Amino acid sequence: MNQHFISNEITVGNLPLGGNQPVRIQSMTNTPTQDTEATVNQIIRLAKAGCELVRIAAADVKEAENLKNIRNLLRQKGVDIPLIADIHFQPKTAEIAAGIVDKIRINPGNFTGSHHKNKKYSEEEYHQELRNTAANLKPLFNICEKNHTTIRIGINHGSLSDRILYRYGNTPEGMVSSALEFIQICRENDFHNLTLSLKASSVPVMIKANRLLVEKMKQHGWNYPIHLGVTEAGSGTEGRIKSIMGIGTLLSEGIGDTLRVSLTEAPEKEIPVARKIIRTYPRHFVFPGNTIQQIRYGEIENHLRPFVVWIKENETPDAEKKVCLLSYPDLQMDEILFRAPVDFFRTWEQEKPDGLLILHRKNNTEESDTTLAFQILQAAGLRFSQAEFIACPSCGRTQFDIEKELQRVQKRLGHLKGLKIAIMGCFVNGPGEMAGADYGYVGTGKGKVNLYKKNKIIFKYLSPDEALNKLEELILNPNSVPENEG
Ligand code: SF4
Repeated sequence: MNQHFISNEITVGNLPLGGNQPVRIQSMTNTPTQDTEATVNQIIRLAKAGCELVRIAAADVKEAENLKNIRNLLRQKGVDIPLIADIHFQPKTAEIAAGIVDKIRINPGNFTGSHHKNKKYSEEEYHQELRNTAANLKPLFNICEKNHTTIRIGINHGSLSDRILYRYGNTPEGMVSSALEFIQICRENDFHNLTLSLKASSVPVMIKANRLLVEKMKQHGWNYPIHLGVTEAGSGTEGRIKSIMGIGTLLSEGIGDTLRVSLTEAPEKEIPVARKIIRTYPRHFVFPGNTIQQIRYGEIENHLRPFVVWIKENETPDAEKKVCLLSYPDLQMDEILFRAPVDFFRTWEQEKPDGLLILHRKNNTEESDTTLAFQILQAAGLRFSQAEFIACPSCGRTQFDIEKELQRVQKRLGHLKGLKIAIMGCFVNGPGEMAGADYGYVGTGKGKVNLYKKNKIIFKYLSPDEALNKLEELILNPNSVPENEG
């Protein structure tokens, strides 16, 4: 596909990134940014685990200013890891942070200076908004130029601007167009110290958007480095499978210069997963695909047939149905976890099989792994055998224990297949980034939760216990719950 996309090399702080440099690993702190010591300690733990760049949320001017204290304390402790500030809504915050850290991540959807939900844009209004965005960004370019600060254009599927949504909808094409428009603004300002990211909680959307971005960049003759990640992937095996499938598939095509595995767990736990993905899919490695076989159901030995997991829930097995057979006789399960999601996704795209059979060897006997097969089909968005949880990895804006809350909600509601439930750490960005969830369980202030049905807020300021009960009630018995309580 998009092999041999070689980006240009930049340096972030003292770290070369892009070109033929190794794929760089990054993560994000989830301590309060105002808590200098806790944030510094977490950064040190991340650096020791192998993280090469660390992102810190800067929600407002105060937090942006505190980045200086974080940086100074890190230096006192002899840690000179490149720092990235994560900016959401305030251009002023971006300008302060850009004078302190090595890189800032901004979402261009937040620099339009206007919000017009469901507005119909005339051609002139569309272009006027782009001109406004360019004007809002000018001071930032000057600061970044002066301080050699990199900008990441960080586009998320869940938070495209109203302008882009009007013209392209919430689509990979919209994500790419947003990136291209923003690159154009940077280029008009002769600013090229850029990286790009197009993230989504849906693995196929994230893959499609990044491939399209590379295709468009090639057409323009551009080669900015690409940051990969699947947002709100959740935790545990499910979260890992989504990240492996999304990031691994793109790396195996030569796309990606830096990555973050977003897990709703301690950020340090993201690093070994990221390292292993990079080891499994070395840069510009041409994938052999020799473990994959596409066979007919009738050719599968009788004793293995019951272990085929069909993509359609009520598929009638017949001899001619196509089955993707992933066989790993020499690999341990922890290796298979890093191979099978990508092997399947690539086969699915090319062959459109009807079912999946994963085989491995245990105690010299061939065994199948149907649990992994179900999880892979769910990550690929093909068959939902349990509730789908999307959960943000949390950051300095989170004021409740999101890892614990995710586990509680999963335990209580995980059996409700077909539902998409979002667990988000803050009400500022959470609702916008719930990416089509049916229900949202969103942190709002210390230990408080707001509940959403689609994008509509139903309950406010509940304790986590109340919220879990109300959420279950809302799902199982929607008419019993008066809406807009609280
Ligand atoms: S949604 Fe989660 S990761 Fe995103 S800003 Fe809020 S707390 Fe941070």
